[in-house]
Amino acid sequence: MIVTETIDIVVPCYNEEEVLKIFYEETKKILDSINNYTFQFILVDDGSRDKTLSIMKELAEIYPDVSYLSFSRNFGKEAAMYAGLRYSSGDYVIVMDADLQHPPALIPEMVAGVKEGYDCVAAMRTTRTNEAKIRSLFSRMFYRLSNMLTDVSLVQGAVDFRIMSRQMVNAVLDLSEVQRFSKGIFSWVGFKTKWLPYENIERTIGSTKWSFWNLFKYALDGITAFSIVPLRLVSIMGFFISVFAFIYIIITITKALITGIDVPGYVTTLSTILFLGGIIELSLGILGEYIGHIYMESKNRPIFILKQTNINLTDKYK
Ligand code: UDP
Ligand code: MG
Repeated sequence: MIVTETIDIVVPCYNEEEVLKIFYEETKKILDSINNYTFQFILVDDGSRDKTLSIMKELAEIYPDVSYLSFSRNFGKEAAMYAGLRYSSGDYVIVMDADLQHPPALIPEMVAGVKEGYDCVAAMRTTRTNEAKIRSLFSRMFYRLSNMLTDVSLVQGAVDFRIMSRQMVNAVLDLSEVQRFSKGIFSWVGFKTKWLPYENIERTIGSTKWSFWNLFKYALDGITAFSIVPLRLVSIMGFFISVFAFIYIIITITKALITGIDVPGYVTTLSTILFLGGIIELSLGILGEYIGHIYMESKNRPIFILKQTNINLTDKYK
């Protein structure tokens, strides 16, 4: 007898009314070609303002393989992914976007990968077609900086489209920080990961929810979440500036003693004040980033608030 294993497909959705049905149908077509596994969709409505939730309910009415979770407001994609994983129960879990930018056609290969013995098979885009030059430049800079500063290695082009074993999902759930940076978390937990390259696909329906500023904040949060190197840089910078200042003070005093005080010094004084002012502001900013993170984490607020679901809530979740 063949024991079928179960695979949950977690899909964070925010204002995806235009694409959700198509997404389900397209993905379903691919899943039908995979034998020996049963699939269950876990659609997570991240506080959408459009008809996303009612479409989810409709789908759930018609298809028994559709479950949905709906938040009380928009908590962000990270929270939506976390909720999906939290309520998943499959032997494996796939996370993917609703906008068909994560090609469902990769799923059979992903499933084959875990069958081969990998704990995780993750997709990675190889091209960034039509993306603004400046955006890809910043993206490359971020990956370089992040890999330099943090212990986790982020793979350039890695997207949140992957299959994970139950063991890995549980490990991810154990990292229960409120400010989640999944790219880092997936890497931090370890496990054997296989990378599947694919050609980047433009979003054809709906629109992206990311602004440049959001991406910048995301990058900054990613680095501070996994590294305290910036804090150390502040200390090192402080040390070198102090040494330099000390030497300069000795020289200035000696000169004053020997040749007396010559009053001009406007330029040096002003430059020093401005330079040190800048450094101090920067250092405070870096400290502030970390304090902000500590502050938010210390409140220990829930990552998401569930409003509605058709999943039978067992004691485990209540
Ligand atoms: N998403 C979400 N909550 C948000 C923003 C986005 O659940 O606050 C979902 C969105 O519905 C989509 C996925 O996250 O399924 C990726 O979003 P998007 O396509 O806007 O990002 P991009 O592909 O441009 O990185
Ligand atoms: Mg997208």
